Amino acid sequence: MGQRQEEELHLPYNLVKQSISNRQYKFMYQPILNVKTGGVGLEMLARWQHEGEWISPLQFIPVIEEQGLITDFNKLLVDQLIADHQMLKETLKNFSFISLNLSPYIFINKEEVKFMQYLTERLRENNIMASEVCLEITESSILNVHSFSFLEESRKEGFLIAIDDFGTGFSSLEYLIGNSFNVLKLDIALIRQITTKPRKIAIVDSVLMLSKKLKYRVIAEGVETKEQYDLLNKLGIDYIQGYYISKPLFIEDLFRQFNLGN
Ligand code: C2E
Ligand code: CA
Ligand code: CA
Repeated sequence: MGQRQEEELHLPYNLVKQSISNRQYKFMYQPILNVKTGGVGLEMLARWQHEGEWISPLQFIPVIEEQGLITDFNKLLVDQLIADHQMLKETLKNFSFISLNLSPYIFINKEEVKFMQYLTERLRENNIMASEVCLEITESSILNVHSFSFLEESRKEGFLIAIDDFGTGFSSLEYLIGNSFNVLKLDIALIRQITTKPRKIAIVDSVLMLSKKLKYRVIAEGVETKEQYDLLNKLGIDYIQGYYISKPLFIEDLFRQFNLGN
């Protein structure tokens, strides 16, 4: 089955709505390795099976956002997390948390309150602790003072709250100064060429020093080679994610590849 990447998707509202109510989405998991403890987090990455092809989230997420359906979509993520959590915890050695990508669009029309109610209730029903869930959110102009205090509240309730794609936006330092986040994900753009560009090493080194002082956990994304892994390890990184550890995998393949449970 191919993956449609390039074309713009022009999808009518009803089709998108139906794709959500018919649960046409599957989720892959990509391991996030804690290099200090060996703990394994897993980031859920959505795929849409549409007309016989796997469609990239970079294409369908913006459509879902524009159509105002992001909370309905997020509920699918929560349902999948609940469905898989027990098995992941039992099967995967050193399982530590599951990471969800949250679109900043949930902060439009106070959707975040609805979403968080749904998430916390489902976690409570299934005895899953907030500390086993990481919510990743990218910098966006949609985020305002209310969004930040909402994220801060969620962090205080025990959730891991991550700034995704750190190092690509413009107001990154402001995000660090606030109290909303406790995890920082260094974008692939910072990691790429880290072994050949001294300026990139200097930036990552400084961000890591700053993060330590501010008590952030830091994840390097898009790590593809042993050289990058070794260098980041030497600089004191906490977590590594990327093809060097593993590509995103459907759960069956994840168990096949990482079946280290016994
Ligand atoms: P992201 O959150 O930054 O996710 C990381 C992306 O980098 C993933 O692409 C992953 O497959 C890819 N990646 C991981 N390791 C490597 C590596 O070593 N090298 C390279 N070149 N790429 C790597 P993917 O799965 O296509 O997802 C793209 C974006 O779509 C995500 O970027 C995220 O922003 C968004 N997304 C995915 N799933 C969801 C979702 O359920 N909800 C929302 N709101 N957004 C989602
Ligand atoms: Ca992410
Ligand atoms: Ca990212």
